[in-house]
Formats: sequence, C-alpha cells, structure tokens
Amino acid sequence: MSATHPVGVAPSPWTAGQRLVLAVLLVVGVGGLLAGYTGTSGTLRVGHQVVWIDLAGAALLVSGAGVILFLTAGRRAIGQRRLGLFGNVVEGGAAAALATGVAAGDLVSAPTMTKYHRADCSFVAGKAGVVAASAAGHEQAGRRPCGVCLPGGDA
Ligand SMILES: [Zn+2]
Repeated sequence: MSATHPVGVAPSPWTAGQRLVLAVLLVVGVGGLLAGYTGTSGTLRVGHQVVWIDLAGAALLVSGAGVILFLTAGRRAIGQRRLGLFGNVVEGGAAAALATGVAAGDLVSAPTMTKYHRADCSFVAGKAGVVAASAAGHEQAGRRPCGVCLPGGDA
C-alpha cells in the first residue's frame, strides 16, 4: 500500500489482482451467456437447450458473485482507510469527554456553545472549556438540547 499516486487523486480501493479477478469473472459471465445463446439457437430439442441454459445461468451466478465480492472488498478497503484517517469517531468522542474530567452521563456544554450535549456526543469531542451542568442549568443559560445526541432523554 505504499504505491505513489498523484496528489489530490485518491488511490483505488482495489488491488490490481482484485481487478484482474473481476475482469476474468466478467469475461466468464459474458462468455457463458454467449455460449448459452449460440447453444440454444438453431435447435428445437428442449433437452439440448436446457444444458446450455444451465451453463449460461451458472456463468451469470459466478460473475455476479465476483461483482459482489469485488464491491465488498472495495467497501472494506475504504472503511479501513477511513479508520486510519479519522479513527473510531464514537469511541474517540467518549474518551475525549472522559479525559476532561466529565462523567459519561453528564450533560455538557461550553460557554461559546448554544446547545448542550451528552458527554459522549461527537459535537463536544475535543472542545476546550467543556463544563457539566444539569439540563435546567443549561436551559437557564439559554442553551437548547442537541438534536443529535438528544440529552433530554428522548433517545
Ligand atoms: Zn450532541
């Protein structure tokens, strides 16, 4: 994964081997369909046609499975890349909140914020000057509950 690529262009999530396997499986699928078509055309014997239709169906299944595996591998690679770039946002937010001395169940906000949040909400992760208070205390200070973490207990 140390291959160089142009700046500003994301590297492909697929390896060259994965792309080659996909290409081979797609060729198998198209080839199976063409073989099925040519095998069934020109004959009226159903027993003869069924064999070619089965072949075409099997080729379609194989290439379809290849496409599914290809997309799954790409999605997995993108997820790994995202984890490497941003880390686990949910666990990181909770750890950052706990590092400031705020308990996990507290309702927190900062003086410059207009909303109050649960301590593990990602909107307060890494914010400086976060303090805990009761819901009434935050409301008295003119803050509204966060619509994402729903600190009012609606979750
Ligand atoms: Zn929130």
